[in-house]
Parts: sequence; C-alpha cells; structure tokens
Amino acid sequence: MACKKTITVFGATGAQGGSVVKALLQDKSFAVRAVTRDVTKPAAQKLKEAGAEVVSADLDNETSVKAALKGTYGAFVVTNFWEHMDKDKEVKQGKQIADLCKQLELKHVIYSGLENVQKLTGGKLEVPHFDSKGLVEEYFRQIKVPMTSVRLAFYFENFLTLCRPQKCQDGKTYQLVIPMGDIPMDGISVTDLGPIVCSVLKNPSEYAGKDIGLSADKLTIRQYAEIMSEVTGKTIVDSKITPEAYIKLDLPVVQEMNSMFLFYHMRPDRNVALTRKLNPNVKTFKQFMEANKEAFKDL
Ligand code: NAP
Repeated sequence: MACKKTITVFGATGAQGGSVVKALLQDKSFAVRAVTRDVTKPAAQKLKEAGAEVVSADLDNETSVKAALKGTYGAFVVTNFWEHMDKDKEVKQGKQIADLCKQLELKHVIYSGLENVQKLTGGKLEVPHFDSKGLVEEYFRQIKVPMTSVRLAFYFENFLTLCRPQKCQDGKTYQLVIPMGDIPMDGISVTDLGPIVCSVLKNPSEYAGKDIGLSADKLTIRQYAEIMSEVTGKTIVDSKITPEAYIKLDLPVVQEMNSMFLFYHMRPDRNVALTRKLNPNVKTFKQFMEANKEAFKDL
C-alpha cells in the first residue's frame, strides 16, 4: 500500500482544527498529525483513539513547531487570538509557521485567515484579530508558500456563547444584541470547516494561492432571530442596537466585536456557492438550530 501524505493540523483540540482532523480521518486520503500543547489532555487522547498521530508543539516554541511540520505534505494552520488578545503575538506566531513551511517545502498549507481591515480601509477601521491574520496571509504570499486562506464567517456557535439571546426586561422575550442593522451577516457552523479543508487539500491546483470566504447563510439579525424563534418556540427578536450604543455595553471584548461588526457592514466577500461546492453538507442556520435545539432549552 502506498504511503499516505501527512497533514499537520494545528489547533487540533479546538473547534476549527478538531473539525479538520475529524474530516481528514473520515476521508482517509491523508494521514493526520494533530498538534496540541498537551498530549495528555482528554481531547488529545480522543484524537489518538480516532487514528491521528498526536504530537506536542507550542506556537511560541519554534523548535517544536518545526518538528511538528517536518516530513509532512501539508498543514492546516489556525492561531488563537482570543487566548492572548495580542495582535503582534498572533502575527509573530503566523509568520514563524509560514517561514517553517517554506523552509521545509510544504506543498500546500491551508491557513485560517481573515482580511487585513486596517489596510483595506486605509486605517479608518482596525480589527486586531482580523488585521493580524491578514498580515500573515500577505506574508505567506510574499515568501511564496503554496497557501489557501479559508476566511470563516461568524460561527453560528457564537449564538450559543458570546452572542446568546439576552432576556428582555419583560422577562419573557429575548433579543439578539448584534449591531448589524438590516445588513445581512454571513455565518457558518465551525463543525462544517473540516470537509471544506479536505476538499481544498485534494484539489491543490484549483485552490492553492486563493483566498476563500466561507459562509453557509447570509441573514439579517432579524432573520436569525426569526429562525431561532421558529425552532425554539421562544420569542426572539433583533434588538436593533446601534454600533454607538453597543460599544457602551458592559460586555467582554465589546470594542473588538464592535469593530468586527463594523467591518461586516462592508459585506466582506463570503461565497455561499463555493462553500457549498466544497462541502455539500454544510448546514444552513435553520439546520444548525435544529441540531442544537437542546442548547437553547434553558432560555
Ligand atoms: P479554540 O476552539 O479555542 O481552539 C484553540 C486551539 O488553538 C486549541 O486546539 C489549542 O490547542 C490551540 N492553541 C492555542 N494556543 C496555542 C499555542 N501557543 N500553541 C499551540 N496550539 C495552541 O479556537 P478556534 O475557534 O478553533 O480558533 C480560534 C480562532 O478562530 C481565533 O483566532 C479567531 O479569531 C478565529 N475565528 C473565529 C470566528 C468566530 O466566529 N468565533 C470566525 C472566524 C475566525 P491546545 O490548547 O490543545 O494546545
């Protein structure tokens, strides 16, 4: 039997990388090397049981990252801004991986990127967790690593956590507090990323060098709320909050989120048809809600 090409997957114990490992193992075209800082943690053990080679590496330790990439055909790379909220650190981690991919002559890298908003808007708007990834995308291109950037839309999963419906003062109805007005916002379930990355890796000649904006649905907040109401049986509405009012809220990371929503107002390129081509089973928001109904039962 011919030896399978190996893909190193960063963030393998997390949402994006976890979905990628799962899809690659199911597809069986590639062998998987899953990266975590702690190979003893339960999530890492599960990856091993599922058939991945699990290795320890820390994005802040070059030697360990080099060892994780050595001898592999390709890689899926995600960095986690939210762990440190430091744009420069995310850029440093990303550029270092890019340099190592170049040095080790990887044939195809899938990078979880986003736009450099600061550059796109001529400095009018800054979204640090986008700008950092945009700078790393540019660096990958500059040093000529064959790289496909997958730019994810707002995770539908954010509606379970950071953007969960908030109870209104009447104690009965709920509202989505997202300052998008009537502008549609792209969304996708992060669990649908894996098959997309798998399709991209299997078609390097078509996708290497491209930036792909991923989206499963383009809906206004009112439409998200209507679907949530329909599936949960609760009354959920759009709060219609303005960016000016949103930024004054006492919410975690409100400034970063507000800047991101302001960038979403500019309707970044997210391609539903291409997303569906790369993963024909990508869930619509309604399907996501139906699959996650239980998570809203205590609303
Ligand atoms: P996640 O579920 O929190 O997982 C983070 C992963 O990163 C873990 O597997 C962790 O591995 C790994 N990790 C963190 N620091 C590391 C380090 N120093 N060295 C090695 N591995 C490290 O995060 P995610 O949702 O998959 O990805 C987060 C990224 O997605 C963020 O940068 C965010 O900007 C981006 N994003 C989010 C959205 C959204 O709507 N939420 C949309 C687009 C893009 P171990 O702990 O096992 O080492």
